[in-house]
Amino acid sequence: MSGARPTCKSCRYWSEMIAKSARVGVQAMCLCPTMPRQYTYGSDGCASWADAPHGAIDAPGNENAYPGAAT
Ligand code: SF4
Repeated sequence: MSGARPTCKSCRYWSEMIAKSARVGVQAMCLCPTMPRQYTYGSDGCASWADAPHGAIDAPGNENAYPGAAT
């Protein structure tokens, strides 16, 4: 990273399949196995952030992209 705070938008756990229109913009489901199921904004973030070189863990075709990361 370039020093910028990692955000949900660039996190592997930010769903590409479960999203909704929100009061301001769009929210998607956080699928991190150590976090409660919740919708978050792309500008949100947390200490469980993980890089997403293959995209979100629930992107079609990514079933085996992140071994050990439960969806
Ligand atoms: S809340 Fe944390 S783990 Fe969940 S999508 Fe955002 S940065 Fe990733």
